[in-house]
Amino acid sequence: MQRGLVFNIQRYSLHDGPGIRTTVFLKGCPLCCSWCHNPEGLAPARELLVVEGRCAVCGECRKACPFAAQLPSNGVLPTRHEPCLLCGRCVEACPTGARQMVGREMTVAEVLEEVLKDFVFYEESSGGVTLSGGEPLMQPAFAMELLEACRARGLRTAVDTCGFGCTDHFLGLARLADLVLYDLKFMDDARHREHCGVSNRPILENLAALDRIHRSIWVRVPVIPSMNDDEENLSAIARFVSTLSGVRQVNLLPYHRTGAQKHRRLGQPYALADVEPPTAAQMQRALEAFLAAGLDARAGG
Ligand code: SF4
Ligand code: SF4
Repeated sequence: MQRGLVFNIQRYSLHDGPGIRTTVFLKGCPLCCSWCHNPEGLAPARELLVVEGRCAVCGECRKACPFAAQLPSNGVLPTRHEPCLLCGRCVEACPTGARQMVGREMTVAEVLEEVLKDFVFYEESSGGVTLSGGEPLMQPAFAMELLEACRARGLRTAVDTCGFGCTDHFLGLARLADLVLYDLKFMDDARHREHCGVSNRPILENLAALDRIHRSIWVRVPVIPSMNDDEENLSAIARFVSTLSGVRQVNLLPYHRTGAQKHRRLGQPYALADVEPPTAAQMQRALEAFLAAGLDARAGG
């Protein structure tokens, strides 16, 4: 049985496909979008975070760490330091739960057991399970076995993907999903490289390949003021999506700032500290770019 690295299992999710869903977040993503609101999902390995508000500055983590003598002697043990082995001793020693390990290795059976707890809600709401991340394509064998296991138990399945990865793996995953939630951010390759760290060509090619085999695709576009919400970019995305026959709807997702706090907890800088969420007028303008292309577009989702 496959094992995967999972960083969250979110029950009663209403935003990752139809109905009530359980969203399983897999760790690791090939992109590094500066606005990412799940930065704890980016690294394909376990990592530490500290919830500042819970820290009692008691120093127990420092006492537990085998490397404390090599670190500056004042203050709370940092989340990231050179010799850290992710042994987890500081997490066990922390009396307030301020130090947490992100990422747990789980078998398919363990995840399935969690997911099945809400079976009755899926039935009543036409919901199901969604694999998200991070990026499910980073753990293709685990993701496929998990989707197969879900289907074998009669669950409706969805995959939320950035689309960057091996086309064979991607289409294999998509064939096991009743719905594919597909993220698009920029049409221009240079802008995509600048803000997401990789080319968008494989993403656009995989979406076109998906469209040839799948009839249930929802495209999701984050709307980030001063970053990707210009008319040129949104209209270019809308024109491309309008050529695809399997896209059922487009969801425009307003940028929000929850990522800022998470970046801080991971000891990482946050590049969008000065960017505000879009106003209602900005969201309406974004929506109109997609409606003008004849798409079923909606804010949120
Ligand atoms: S995980 Fe282990 S090595 Fe890393 S900071 Fe905590 S106690 Fe130290
Ligand atoms: S053990 Fe926990 S509460 Fe105490 S200083 Fe370390 S992080 Fe803060």
